[in-house]
Amino acid sequence: MIVPVQRRVAVLGATGSIGASALEVIARHPLRFRATVLTANTRAAELAALCARFQPELAVIGDPACEGELRAQLRALGLSTRTAAGAAALEAAAGGSESDTVIAAIVGAAGLLSTMAAARAGKRVLLANKEAVVVAGALFMRAVAAHGAELIPVDSEHNAIFQCLPAPALGAAGRPGVRRVLLTASGGPFRGRDRAALAAVTPEQAVAHPNWSMGPKISVDSATLMNKGLEVIEAHWLFDAAAEAIEVVVHPQSVVHSLVEYADGSVLAELGQPDMRTALAHALGWPERIEAGVARLDLATLGRLDFEPVDHGAFPCLGLAYAALRAGGSVPAVLNAANEVAVAAFLERRIGFLGIPALIEATLARYTPAAADDIAGLLAIDAEARRVAAEALPGVADALQPA
Ligand code: NAD
Ligand code: MG
Repeated sequence: MIVPVQRRVAVLGATGSIGASALEVIARHPLRFRATVLTANTRAAELAALCARFQPELAVIGDPACEGELRAQLRALGLSTRTAAGAAALEAAAGGSESDTVIAAIVGAAGLLSTMAAARAGKRVLLANKEAVVVAGALFMRAVAAHGAELIPVDSEHNAIFQCLPAPALGAAGRPGVRRVLLTASGGPFRGRDRAALAAVTPEQAVAHPNWSMGPKISVDSATLMNKGLEVIEAHWLFDAAAEAIEVVVHPQSVVHSLVEYADGSVLAELGQPDMRTALAHALGWPERIEAGVARLDLATLGRLDFEPVDHGAFPCLGLAYAALRAGGSVPAVLNAANEVAVAAFLERRIGFLGIPALIEATLARYTPAAADDIAGLLAIDAEARRVAAEALPGVADALQPA
């Protein structure tokens, strides 16, 4: 038996939903993969427990106030894992020599610097952190190319498209014969409801996704369809596809993960269970195929696959994202920042569900973003957009809060 060279994997966001699925795949293949770096934001006890199981070289906690607790927990478990804390430590860990492969699974623009650092270090980057690409797509793709990083999409739609495109799948400008890419959207927990019915939905209902088990932020994004909007922007950068060449179709079963249409009329799709371990195993093992631990797809039991158009009246976030992509520059960064503020406010019950698109629109209307051609400039725009969104929030809450 030929034993492959062991990949040394940094799991950024190890305590999250993607982090957990990634670690399950890694645990299945101890000869192939070793988790050498694990990170979390505040959950020190959970991170320490993962250290006990995976014995990484380094554990990084985002919030420096939690490092003491992390150290105490590691000591209590009898572990001598090295620790570090803070955003700069996360960035250093992503680019550092402890790993050759980085799973970018931090949620939100908070993952931007570490995702960029992994690309600049020329590593294999397994990209889940779509917000980083929405904020800084041009700079990220440039860094990937300049430093010879090996980018593999983990977002299930983009992973499916990657599998359906001819090599090289990523960033291949003017790829001949490809007419468009089609992203499938489950429609989320509120598919079929009209705008009026959405006014009073609760955070609990919004995070209860019918098919996928995910973190709270992406679950709300799936309910508003902003997740699909962020994914359209992500697809633009990853596959060098114009907005007009990216279509979204609602597919409630989430079995067809996405499709590519060719000039001759052929449409290729990737199908599978709605389980992120498939995309993670594909990206970890690529170009080989490895076991993911996912149940087989039984089409006869499934019986049918349904498709329908998006209801843009009830779910305006997708249209806002297309408009931001077409506007270009740093407008997608503003859209993303406003969405992060809006989702957090919705989860805290400070605005209703319809307040999410309202706050994004209000932020985009109040703030004309400057041009930014470096990461520092984009981070400044992100911070300013959050400030403007926070300022607009009370007005949106008053106008839309359900009685
Ligand atoms: P999650 O909320 O379950 O986990 C987020 C992780 O990021 C946690 O480990 C948390 O500690 C860490 N984190 C959060 N804020 C941080 C900060 N400020 N600094 C450092 N670390 C921080 O989220 P998730 O559902 O696993 O999603 C992670 C990313 O993957 C998101 O960008 C999401 O859009 C994307 N994604 C998720 C899924 C899914 O099925 N969950 C599918 C496709 C893409
Ligand atoms: Mg997705």
